[in-house]
Amino acid sequence: MTPEQFANAVLVWFDQHGRHDLPWQAHKTAYFTWLSEIMLQQTQVTTVIPYFERFRQQFPTVDDLAAADQDEVLHLWTGLGYYARARNLHKTAKIVSRNFGGRFPETVEELEQLPGIGRSTAGAILSISTGKRAAILDGNVKRVLARFYAIDGWPGTTDNIKQLWSFAEQNTPHERVADYTQAMMDMGATLCTRSKPACLLCPLQQGCQAHRQGRENQLPEPRPKKVIPVKQTLMLLIEDSEGQILLRQRPPTGIWGGLWSLPETSDLRDAEQETGLPVDTDSATPLEPLRHTFSHFHLDITPVKIALRKAGRESESHKDLTNRVMEQPATLWYNLHQPQKVGLAAPVKKLLGKLKS
Ligand code: SF4
Repeated sequence: MTPEQFANAVLVWFDQHGRHDLPWQAHKTAYFTWLSEIMLQQTQVTTVIPYFERFRQQFPTVDDLAAADQDEVLHLWTGLGYYARARNLHKTAKIVSRNFGGRFPETVEELEQLPGIGRSTAGAILSISTGKRAAILDGNVKRVLARFYAIDGWPGTTDNIKQLWSFAEQNTPHERVADYTQAMMDMGATLCTRSKPACLLCPLQQGCQAHRQGRENQLPEPRPKKVIPVKQTLMLLIEDSEGQILLRQRPPTGIWGGLWSLPETSDLRDAEQETGLPVDTDSATPLEPLRHTFSHFHLDITPVKIALRKAGRESESHKDLTNRVMEQPATLWYNLHQPQKVGLAAPVKKLLGKLKS
């Protein structure tokens, strides 16, 4: 398929099946196109519609939006999420009102200078509101192109972005650019969807490499998962003669700050020294390990059930034990059947739950 055939196929499909009744399509000014484009970032059309209508009524011009209090803008935005968008929206309105006399600039380069407007949004504003030839590459279009050209790897890599922009530019027609822009967005949103692309209904099916290779469900590839380090720990389930488990409070800051957790050690032989408790290492019984994942590392936990030494048990009351670990964090004996109302670290809650059942 040549770029001309690509654009034609998309436009023919758009005339019959594209969306023609979206509220911002009735107001194809740069201001309303920009407003809708910002609202549509990471947000579904159906969610955006009532917000768009409210903004349009409240702020009929970019000057009205610029003159509003930020609180009023944020209040109207409430529920749409990603509030940086609303703050940038207000900043941009002020710049357009003050520096451009209330008219949006008409080049991609100038539009891109405005807060919250990237290259794709600039292309959309320009092509839809002026009909000037400008390409877009939002998430939907990336998916369509990554499949059509069977581009391997995550579309967000520098090389893939470059390649995708080059295809986006080359396929953008010289005429009916506004319709083409809308058509590409519609294709991605309604046909070439993330999980179930409707290839049989797709006007690009004949030239689509991913479809030809039967890989439409594998492309585009997801963002690679960050490789994060794995740390190991032994969590000690120290049990008293009544079956209560010793918990310690974490320091107020850091991981699980202020929550209650189990004493930990990296080596069972050091358990007594590290916990400050007379534990009977001969009684240690490892339980099923579990993994807890933080944003920056995995913690592989081996829970070890362990008793206090007999002599220790006989000679030391709970109070003595607590005194003995005075320099240590606050401690409590957790009753599995009448649990105290304390905040527990997530894996500890899981472990105590298992122990109870
Ligand atoms: S043929 Fe399928 S995978 Fe290819 S662009 Fe169309 S819907 Fe997407």
